[in-house]
Amino acid sequence: NEDQFKKVISHAKEYGYVFQSSEIYDGLSAVYDYAQNGVELKKNIRDYWWKAMVQMNENIVGIDTAIFMHPTTWKASGHVDAFSDPLIDNKDSKKRYRADVLVEDYCAKIESKIDKEIKKAEKRFGDAFNKEEFVSTNGRVVGYQEKINVILKRLGQSLEREDLADVKALIEELEIADPMTGSRNWTDVKQFNLMFGTKLGASAESAMDLYLRPETAQGIFVNFLNVQKSGRMKIPFGIAQTGKAFRNEIVARQFIFRMREFEQMEMQFFIKPGTQKEWFEYWKENRMKWHLSLGMDQDNYRFHDHEKLAHYADAATDIEFKFPFGFKELEGIHSRTDFDLKQHEEFSGKKLQYFDHEDNASYTPYVLETSIGLDRMFLAVFSNALEDETLEDGSVRTVLKLPAVLAPIKAAILPLVKKDGLPEIAKQIMEDLKWDFNVDYDEKDAVGRRYRRQDANGTPFCITVDHDTLEDNTVTIRHRDTMEQQRVKIEDLNEIIHKEVDA
Ligand code: ATP
Repeated sequence: NEDQFKKVISHAKEYGYVFQSSEIYDGLSAVYDYAQNGVELKKNIRDYWWKAMVQMNENIVGIDTAIFMHPTTWKASGHVDAFSDPLIDNKDSKKRYRADVLVEDYCAKIESKIDKEIKKAEKRFGDAFNKEEFVSTNGRVVGYQEKINVILKRLGQSLEREDLADVKALIEELEIADPMTGSRNWTDVKQFNLMFGTKLGASAESAMDLYLRPETAQGIFVNFLNVQKSGRMKIPFGIAQTGKAFRNEIVARQFIFRMREFEQMEMQFFIKPGTQKEWFEYWKENRMKWHLSLGMDQDNYRFHDHEKLAHYADAATDIEFKFPFGFKELEGIHSRTDFDLKQHEEFSGKKLQYFDHEDNASYTPYVLETSIGLDRMFLAVFSNALEDETLEDGSVRTVLKLPAVLAPIKAAILPLVKKDGLPEIAKQIMEDLKWDFNVDYDEKDAVGRRYRRQDANGTPFCITVDHDTLEDNTVTIRHRDTMEQQRVKIEDLNEIIHKEVDA
């Protein structure tokens, strides 16, 4: 729901997880920065994925390819020239694109009107100005806001149904008429419009048009033979990669769910033609297990099998997650046949084949792909973890119940008071633990408030040093989710934390 989503966004900012990019210049639309805690959470998710895919599978290796690729790559992949592809009905896709641009423009105009109203009011009322209150009592602003909500809601629905007629009706209703008709599948064409172009070369005449990659997969396909040969890999084997991808998304207003610069975690699994059904089932199950291993409720996930398939795919499914705004795609699992390798063979004139010693024959492998957005996974984990919990005494605590393995800070060390030698002991504990874990030291405010701060920050353990510590070298360890406190020996801390946070 909308309130929960707003809470997620503001909590992410307040606790140093996600900031809007270039915020002092009023931000850049659909571009975000990861803050001091966010960067740790993101890294931990990436590591958790890498460990499961690369470290735990002896037949999967990693790679890190460049963001820039030879421009012909994007011709082979179908990202460039999509409009002249006979498979695609050009007229309708262009219209569809224009419709989205119109709606996006319209939203932007309304938003800037709201901003102006707010700035005017800020000037007038100075310090007494309360934005929330202003927006909820000022009829004009509410009117604009409602319009945006209607547009976004309708657009979201129409995108799901891939129905251009809906967008048309919507635009007409908004009196920014555009003569559009028909309907068509969105996905085939969008990437053409979505690629960011740039130039390589010193002079205008000799410069070469380049694109920022819209997916990491192509870096894997073009290196398929290099990896296979240098790693002496035997089919079936996989190549995994994590890295930035860029898409000039038209409708991009769902926080880090849909960004213009984002990170993907992809794995291409090369298999013998004819075995794709088994491997599709295998990776479907395997990837779902990975998600469930994080301990988030099973009800948050569902498969969405594609009925309409892209021309290169022979099976596809999404793992959808229950985000605050509903079930949406988190990860895609695609059986891509030999489409990509064949395309690259054709465009490069190089053979990308595998010699199978058992069969004594060469073939172009089929590919099974798993592709997940790191930022989307971040949003899934973060929004699922955020809770306002009512305690027995009726008070409410905000707690970020991140899986311990992913939490940015594993333990906070707190001296009960700032004297009597307690800070020195606490600091020594920190020095010892920091070799193994990201830890935090906090001596400001009453201990109860410090606990709440760490709860909201997602820290699984608080370790409190008090006067008894001076006597017997024990400390209190408090568990974030249960708030249970245990008395333990300082020397056992390392092992206790390891047990909880190791993957
Ligand atoms: P969508 O339908 O939501 O646009 P997609 O089908 O285009 O996604 P893929 O091209 O299959 O997505 O990319 C694989 C994964 O990359 C997606 O499941 C998603 O998690 C992530 N992803 C794609 N586009 C974005 C984006 N603009 N911002 C953040 N993550 C993205």
